Amino acid sequence: MPTETLEFQVEARQLLQLMIHSVYSNKDVFLRELVSNASDALDKLRLEKLRDDSLDADVSDLHIELDIDKDARTLTVRDNGIGMSYDEVGQLIGTIANSGTAQFLQELREAKDAAGAEGLIGQFGVGFYSGFMVADEVTLVTRRAGESRGTRWTSRGEDTYTLEPVDDAPQGTSVTLHLKPADPENQLHDYTSPWKIREIVKRYSDFITWPIRMLPDQGEGDESREPETLNSMKALWARSRDEVSDDEYHELYKHIGHDWRDPLETIRLQAEGTFEFQALLFLPAHAPHDLFTRDFRRGVQLYVRRVFIMDDCEALLPPYLRFVKGVVDAADLSLNVSREILQQDRHIEMMRRRLTKKVLSTVKDMMAKDRDRYATFWREFGTVLKEGLVTDPENRDAVLAVASFASTHDDTEPTTLKAYVERMKDGQEDIYYLTGESRQSIENSPHMEAFRDRGIEVLLLTDAVDEVWADAVGEYEGKKLRSVAKGQIDLGTKDDDASEGEREKQTEDYAGLLGWMREQLDEDIKEVRLSSRLTVSPACVVSDANDLTPALENMYRAMGQEVPRAKRILELNPDHQLVKGLNQAYKEREDRTELTETAELLHGLAVLAEGGQPKDPARFVKLMADRLQRAL
Ligand code: ADP
Repeated sequence: MPTETLEFQVEARQLLQLMIHSVYSNKDVFLRELVSNASDALDKLRLEKLRDDSLDADVSDLHIELDIDKDARTLTVRDNGIGMSYDEVGQLIGTIANSGTAQFLQELREAKDAAGAEGLIGQFGVGFYSGFMVADEVTLVTRRAGESRGTRWTSRGEDTYTLEPVDDAPQGTSVTLHLKPADPENQLHDYTSPWKIREIVKRYSDFITWPIRMLPDQGEGDESREPETLNSMKALWARSRDEVSDDEYHELYKHIGHDWRDPLETIRLQAEGTFEFQALLFLPAHAPHDLFTRDFRRGVQLYVRRVFIMDDCEALLPPYLRFVKGVVDAADLSLNVSREILQQDRHIEMMRRRLTKKVLSTVKDMMAKDRDRYATFWREFGTVLKEGLVTDPENRDAVLAVASFASTHDDTEPTTLKAYVERMKDGQEDIYYLTGESRQSIENSPHMEAFRDRGIEVLLLTDAVDEVWADAVGEYEGKKLRSVAKGQIDLGTKDDDASEGEREKQTEDYAGLLGWMREQLDEDIKEVRLSSRLTVSPACVVSDANDLTPALENMYRAMGQEVPRAKRILELNPDHQLVKGLNQAYKEREDRTELTETAELLHGLAVLAEGGQPKDPARFVKLMADRLQRAL
C-alpha cells in the first residue's frame, strides 16, 4: 500500500491551528497529555489480555519510555500498549469525535481576548494535538497488539497528514516530536533537557501506575543506555493525607477528569473492615458541556488492589452524582469483574451507599464552611443533584439539606428550605413555589400577585426537574410544598372582618356568569371560580391540586408517554373592571354572542400570562384585532 495523504477534518484543522499558534502559556502540559494517552493504552492492553489470553501480545514489561535526541532535536514518547490499527489512526487522530471539543472551538472563536482564550483552553484536554504547541512536525508509529503490520502517521499540523503501512513496527505507539527551534531567550522550555523532562514528569505524571522511563541522550555516548524511572507510581489514594500535596491530588484529577483546571474539592475515603476499599473523589469546578447528554462518560475509575479495571464505572455512584470524578480501589474483587456483575454485586452496592453519603456530606460541609465554594458547586451541579430528590428516596433529606433555590426573598442569593421556613410569616403553613421558563416570566405571572401583595416568599424554580421533584418530595419538615399555580389558595384577606360577608355577596353576584362561562369554555376548562390570587390581572388559569401541570404534561410527552390533557380551572378577579363589566353585561343582555368571545379572550389572556399559548393562536389574534379596531 502506498503512502496516503489525507485531509484533516475541519474541526481538527482548527484545533491544530490553535495549538500551533497557541496562546496557552504553559506548554509543558503537552507531555502530560502524551503520557496520559500512553498510560491509557497500557491499561487497555492489560485488560484485553486479561479477557482474552490468546491475544498475541507481550505484557511482561508494560511501560512508557521517553527518548531525547538533542542533535536531532526530537523527543519520543513510546509505549508498548494496545496501539492502533491503520483505520484507527485515521479515525482517532485525524478527526475530532468529541462533541465537547467542537463546542469548545466555537466558544474559543467567540472569546474576545487572549486571557479568555487561555481560560477556555484550560477547560479542555486537547490531548494528542497539544504536541504541536512545541513541535513543528509529529510522527506517530503504531502497531495494534495482535496485528502484524504497523502504521506511520506524519503531519506538520497543516491541512494534511500522511498514512503509510510499516512492516517492522514494535507493539504499541511511539510519538516523535520534532521540536521547534530552540529559543535562546527561553532556556526554561528546552524539551531536550533531561532535567526539564524529569521535572515535568514529576510534577504532572508521578502517580501514573506504569513506569515512565527516560533513556539517556543518544549523543552522550553511553553504550548501555540504562533507563531511569522518573515516577514514583504511588497510588495517591493509598497514601495518607499528609504524605500527598494538594498539587499531586490535582494532577491526578486532571488525568482522570480530562480537565485542565483544578478541582473544586478533593474527597478521601478509607473504608476498613470486611469489605475494604479506598476512594479518592473530586468535585470539578465546572460542569462539562455534555452532562445532560445520553453518552456522557462518568469519571469514576475502578481499581482492584492498585490494578486499573475500568473507566466510567457507573455502578459506584448514582446517576445524579455522575459529575464526580476519581478513583475507587477495592481490595476484594476479582480482576475479571464485568460491568454486569458489578451492577448486582452486594459489596458494590454497599460501596455506592458509602460513597454517596460521603459526597453529600462533603457538600454539606462546604456549605457550612465556605459559602462561595458551595455557591459555585450549586451553580454548576445543582440541576443534576436535584434529580436525586426524585430517584434516591434514601438520601432525599441529605440532598434537600444541600439544595438551594432562587426565591422572591432575594434577587441574587438563592435560599435553602431551612432559611425559607425560618422566614415564614405567622400563620403561613406551606412552602410556596412556582415553576416556569425563567425567573422573569415567573415573577410576572398573575399567580404571584396576591403573594407579592402580602409579602409572602415564593421559590422560583426554572429547571425542568423542579416540576418533578417538588411533586415527589411533597413536604419539608412537616411543611407542604405547594405550587402557587395549583389548587385553591387561601392566604386570608387583608381586612379579615369585613371580608367574609362581602365574599359571600360576591359569590352570589357572580354565580350566573361563572356557570355560563364554564359552559362556553367547556373544552378546556372544568371550573370557573373567583380568585384570591389576583390583584392586578383579570384572570388566571390554575391546575387542580392533583393534576399534572402543562409543563409536566409536555415533559412526559417529550419522553414518549401518553398523557391526557387535563382540563384546568379559570379564576377571575372579581375586583377587576373587565370582570365586573362582563358580569354586568351578562346580566343585562339577551344576545350573548359577543360575550362568548370575551370569555374566550379572557381565557386566552390568562394562558398567555402564565407563559402558555392559546389553543388556536390565529383565532385569538383575530378576535383581539377586531376588538382593538372597535376601540379606536
Ligand atoms: P483523548 O485522549 O482525549 O481521547 P487524543 O486526541 O489525545 O484524545 O487521542 C485520541 C485517541 O487516540 C485516544 O482516545 C486513543 O484512542 C488514541 N490514542 C492516542 N494516543 C494513543 C496511544 N499512545 N496508544 C493508543 N491509542 C492512542
